[in-house]
Amino acid sequence: MSDKNLEIIPMCEWGMFTDPRPCVVAGPCSAESEEQVMETAKGLREMGINVFRAGIWKPRTHPGCFEGVGAQGLKWLQKVQQEYGLKVATEVAGEKHVAECLKHGVDMVWLGARTTANPFLVQEIADALKGTDIPVLVKNPVNADLDLWIGALERLSRAGIKKLGVIHRGFSTFDKIKYRNDPQWQVAIELRSRYPELPFFVDPSHLGGSRDYIREISQRSLDLGFEGLMIESHCNPSVALSDARQQLTPAQLRDLLYDQIVVREKDSDSPEWKENIDLLRTKIDVIDENILYALGSRMRISRMIGEYKKENNIAIIQAARWDYLLGKVLEKGKEYGLTEKFLNDVFNAIHEASVEIQNDIISGKK
Ligand code: PEP
Ligand code: MN
Repeated sequence: MSDKNLEIIPMCEWGMFTDPRPCVVAGPCSAESEEQVMETAKGLREMGINVFRAGIWKPRTHPGCFEGVGAQGLKWLQKVQQEYGLKVATEVAGEKHVAECLKHGVDMVWLGARTTANPFLVQEIADALKGTDIPVLVKNPVNADLDLWIGALERLSRAGIKKLGVIHRGFSTFDKIKYRNDPQWQVAIELRSRYPELPFFVDPSHLGGSRDYIREISQRSLDLGFEGLMIESHCNPSVALSDARQQLTPAQLRDLLYDQIVVREKDSDSPEWKENIDLLRTKIDVIDENILYALGSRMRISRMIGEYKKENNIAIIQAARWDYLLGKVLEKGKEYGLTEKFLNDVFNAIHEASVEIQNDIISGKK
């Protein structure tokens, strides 16, 4: 059962970010040494970052890789708070991590993708956080299961966590794709539309897996209206002990945030904007009505064809006819500037629905 509403304290009241858009959490994948932590934090402080991230316990795919420095690194994070006035955040994957973080005054924690996928661990963490008012960010689970992601948010919400937010870092795939993880933006968009008040971060480092993609993914997420970015930054990325390819130096991060990405407004109070956008939206609404009417009419004809095929004892699928029709659609559609992928997606969906209708008729269901 889903709790329809999560009780959320807006991010501007968390006391973490002074510059609200985008809200940036930056820092190394892992805390490696006191020097690396302090040097990175200094660079980030100088360029205006307020919230510093560093992994203390690292969930590695293979044993034998660097698994984080453990609780000793929390002392370095305390030093970052004291010397640079930064807020600090780290990943927790169980109650022991939570206890250590609370003991060391960590300002914010996040649940990693592998943890969100495990309700036992999420519950354990939620129980350990009960009674605190520390902000908690929940990364998406490794698989594209929106309910599992929401379930984790509900567990934390029921434990009284109200400074709650999410981080989209993409989903694992077996297929080789451009990015390290598949963005599947539609999942993020669906979560945003169900919980518009939930603070939303995107993690272009883990999503893209390469510093080359950080700019395009950051821009995409701002264009989609997500307000936060979590970006890995290391004083010397090439020697990083984890995720070396996807970290920026603080100077590169400054260039990205101040010169390379464009922050768009969510809305505008200008009467001219309102008038124009309302007009365009009205046009879209009318076109959508027409599309629905056309789809309804098309399906009615499909039904008639189904009945006619039944009377004449003809099979539903006529491959040659479908190939001919799709060919014509692709040719015509291109004239309207529609891509082949879009046309294939739309018309295959229409064809599938039409076959289903005819199937029901022939099998006597309808
Ligand atoms: C991380 O943020 O360093 C991390 C391990 O991320 P994820 O859980 O997204 O893999
Ligand atoms: Mn990492």
